[in-house]
Parts: sequence; C-alpha cells; structure tokens
Amino acid sequence: MSNGAILNADVLVCGGGLAGTMAAVAAARHGANVLLVERYGFLGGNATAGAVAQFNSWQTANGRPVIAGLASEVVERLGRYGAAGEHQTFVMSTGHKMDRVEYAPEILKLVLDDMITEAGVRPLLHANLLRVSSANRRIEAVEVLTKSGVMTINPRVLIDSSGDLDALHRAGARFLELEENESLQPATMMFRFGPIDFDRFHALAPAELAALARKGFESGELARAALHASRDPFSDDGWFNISRLAIDATDAMALGRAEIEGRRQAWRAAGYLKAHVPGCERGQLRSFATQVGVRETRRIEGDHVLSAEDLLQPVQLDDAIAAGAYPIDIHPAAGGGLDYRGLGEDHAYQIPYHSLIPVSFNNALVAGRGISATHTALAAIRVMTISMAVGQAAGTAAAMAARAVASAASVRGVPVGELRATLLRDGAVLR
Ligand SMILES: Cc1cc2nc3c(=O)[nH]c(=O)nc-3n(C[C@H](O)[C@H](O)[C@H](O)COP(=O)(O)OP(=O)(O)OC[C@H]3O[C@@H](n4cnc5c(N)ncnc54)[C@H](O)[C@@H]3O)c2cc1C
Repeated sequence: MSNGAILNADVLVCGGGLAGTMAAVAAARHGANVLLVERYGFLGGNATAGAVAQFNSWQTANGRPVIAGLASEVVERLGRYGAAGEHQTFVMSTGHKMDRVEYAPEILKLVLDDMITEAGVRPLLHANLLRVSSANRRIEAVEVLTKSGVMTINPRVLIDSSGDLDALHRAGARFLELEENESLQPATMMFRFGPIDFDRFHALAPAELAALARKGFESGELARAALHASRDPFSDDGWFNISRLAIDATDAMALGRAEIEGRRQAWRAAGYLKAHVPGCERGQLRSFATQVGVRETRRIEGDHVLSAEDLLQPVQLDDAIAAGAYPIDIHPAAGGGLDYRGLGEDHAYQIPYHSLIPVSFNNALVAGRGISATHTALAAIRVMTISMAVGQAAGTAAAMAARAVASAASVRGVPVGELRATLLRDGAVLR
C-alpha cells in the first residue's frame, strides 16, 4: 500500500478505543466490510493507552445487570488469558456502592486483536486522521496520514469513535458548547505502583483512606484527594488514578505539557503512598500509562441531546440502544474532590439511538465519550461499560445503514425496532 492509495469500506470506524473496537466488531459480524483506523499500534484507547484498569458499573446498586453483549465477551476473553479479576462490589470514599472488574491493560490489547481478527475487521493502525471531505450532508472521503503516506478512505457510513471526534471536527460538524459555569473534566496520568500488601491496603476503612487522601492533598503531595487502586490480576501491583490535569486535550501544546506534568504528579503521589499509606511501604512507581487519560473533550450536537434529567428521571425510550447505571461523577477541574450524585437502588437509565446521530450528517454516527450529551450527562455515560454497549449499537446500526444502496446509506433510515431486536438477540441489555 503506498502514498495516495484509495480504500473503500462499508463502515469506516475512526478511533480504536473500546467504543470503536466494539463498533467495528459488531458491524463486521453483521456482514459489513469494516476498516478500523487507529493512531497507535494497538487498540483500546483509555482502556489500554490510558491504563484505566477497571470496568465500572455493570449493574444497578441492587444487582440488576444493565451491561452485557460484547462488553461481557471482552471480560470473558480477558478471563481466558487470566487477565480479569472477579466481579466485585466495594464501598467508595463517598460512601456509595460501586461494582467493577479489574483487568490487565496489556492483555486487553491481545483480546481486542483477537476480536477484530476473528470478525474480519481490517485494521489500519499507526494512522492519524488528517482531512475529511463531505458534500450534501454526507461524509465522502477521509484522508489518514500513515507510514506509507496519505491514504484516502471512501466510506458508506462513518463512525467517529476517536473520543475527541477528530473526524467529525475535521468534517465541520456542529458540537455542543460548555455552559458558563462548566469546565472540561481534567485528564489523569495513571501509574502502576507495587508491590502492595493488599491485605493491609484493603483493610483500611473507607473513612481512613479518605482521611489519608485528604492529608496528601492538603500537603500538596496528591493532586486529588483519592487513593483508590485497581489491582493488576497478575501481581501485587496496583494502577492509581491520582493526578489531575485541567486541560483541553484537543490543544496540542496543552496536551504535551499535561503528559510531563502528569508524570511529575504521579511521581510525587508514589512518594506519598510509600511514606504514608499502610501496605504501600515496599512499593515503587513501576510505569506510567502510555498517555494521559482523557475524560472529556468534544461532544457532538446530535438529534437528541442526552441530559442529566434523562438519566435522573428516566422514562422508557422507544429508541433505547443501551443502558447504564453509572452515577453522575464529575471530576472538577480545580480542587481535590468529586461532584458525585449516586443513583437509587434499582436505578438505571437508557441511551437513545438519536444521541449517536450528528445533526450535521446523514451517513455518520458517534460512539463512546463524544455522543450527544450535556457535560453533566457525559459524566455518567462516559465509563467503559457504557462506551462498549454504545459502540456495539453504533456498529450494528452502521452495518444496517450500509446495506442500503450506496447513495442512500442513511443512519436516520435505520429501522430502530429492528436495531433493538438485533441488539437483544446479540445479548445486549437495553433497560
Ligand atoms: C483517568 C481516567 C479514569 C477513568 N476511570 C474509569 C473507570 O474506573 N471505569 C470506567 O469504566 N471508565 C473510566 N474512565 C472512562 C473511560 O475510560 C473512557 O470514557 C472510555 O474509555 C472512553 O472510550 P472511547 O472509546 O469513547 O474513547 P477513547 O478511549 O478515548 O478512544 C479513542 C480512540 O481513538 C484514537 N484516536 C484519537 N484521535 C485519533 C486520531 N486523530 N486519529 C486516529 N486515532 C485517533 C485513540 O488513540 C483511541 O484509541 C476513566 C477515564 C479516564 C481518563
């Protein structure tokens, strides 16, 4: 393949994070010819490059499952490699209950490789989105910069799952703005620290851990008042989420500075762990995530803008394509705490298909953390379980849209009843 190559795809998925990878797998399993573009040499996004290391919120507080389908398959496949922990419920420092599955980010790369390979997805790795052209509300061509030079892809349907929605941004789509009193959630440099004596570490009561975290924040050693670790399934190491970097990650200069500052904050936090936190005395900082994890950047303006009210007072939606039960969890750009609004015992909400459809285009969908949602609603639906469920729905819908004659592939023409029935057959939970 050389500079100037032109490729065709029924479905072009831009961004191989968890949302994009699930979208690509779902579309390919439903018969589409799928190309998956990713800037790194591996898939997973925040889940691997960002080393987030735990999938949160599979169920309501009283244990009703709200996530399954491809997301459960990912965990099952991680389990076959020995790389996933048990499904567990724990009490957070806020006093709320939360469930999670811890996993090894490096092995998740292998699982995602397996899934796209078996589904027949064509990966185009080490490829950066460059230019996107459109006409008559349709994406016509996507140019990517690769090792072989610039390559052009002509998709029937495009899914932008690049997190920052670089493809739709380059295409000139409309985006939602922050309200006056809102700011982007900060980014975080995850770091691996160990060995930890987890018997002692986990014996700390939530209030003790919270007090230690507060002390570290007040002394300036911790950038946020948190000391929460995801355990590596293979060792006595943990991944810590402590740094706090208030940036717009679509600003190239700010992103570079945040990588450097993130490593500095992580180093200081590791020193605090070793000096003050029971169970961490023998530990040391072992590695940084490949890049700072990014919680929030662009949000698309879609046919439906999902709001906090939609999540807090849910009604049954005719176009629900996924469900979730993760609470509203805003990491403020300043200060050490969280703005956390827990949900009731059996409280789940739905994600509507129309929040995946950009108002600006007829042959494009969004999957993952860029879907059409207010800043507050995004703070709930951004987690990886929901990103995977939404990705599966986006891929399934895109394959259905791509089946129409080439000139007519329209995401608004997808029969939503059929889409929902297909997702249910494929194991998804929609309420
Ligand atoms: C620090 C942190 C902690 C978190 N903690 C949790 C947690 O405990 N539990 C949980 O479930 N969720 C957690 N989340 C949320 C969750 O990780 C993300 O919201 C989720 O992974 C988003 O997935 P995504 O696929 O939409 O986007 P991303 O993971 O951002 O994936 C986007 C993909 O697109 C690629 N890409 C971007 N731009 C381009 C381009 N121009 N060209 C080509 N490729 C491109 C990227 O490399 C990446 O692979 C956390 C997030 C962060 C940042």
